[in-house]
Amino acid sequence: MHRPQRIPQMTEITDLFGKIKEVELQIEKMTRHWRSLRQVESKKKKERQIKISKGEIEKRHRRKALGISRRYCCPVQGCGKSYGSDGSLNQHIRLKHPLEFEDFRKYKFSSVIAAGQSHPDLN
Ligand SMILES: [Zn+2]
Repeated sequence: MHRPQRIPQMTEITDLFGKIKEVELQIEKMTRHWRSLRQVESKKKKERQIKISKGEIEKRHRRKALGISRRYCCPVQGCGKSYGSDGSLNQHIRLKHPLEFEDFRKYKFSSVIAAGQSHPDLN
């Protein structure tokens, strides 16, 4: 069964070109918008740096990696990772030890219940 390939009509082609032009215009508009956003961003950044250099505002203080006390140790044997918060440790176990994660959760809940404390996750 051979169906001859349909030859597109000139009006269809013109239509398509019109659509392409439309898309091109949209892209141009978006690019301009994006550029202006970037300009605003870099202007803000420069203004901030000037203020910092003048001592008008303080630089953001981030906790240094060494300054965080890492009390939450990963219970998985041989891992040795430790974290500054319960949440970070949870995330680590969930991502790096998915098999152990369920056990860890159960263990945590049972130890919380055994200690007679209410757990924030259970409320
Ligand atoms: Zn680990």
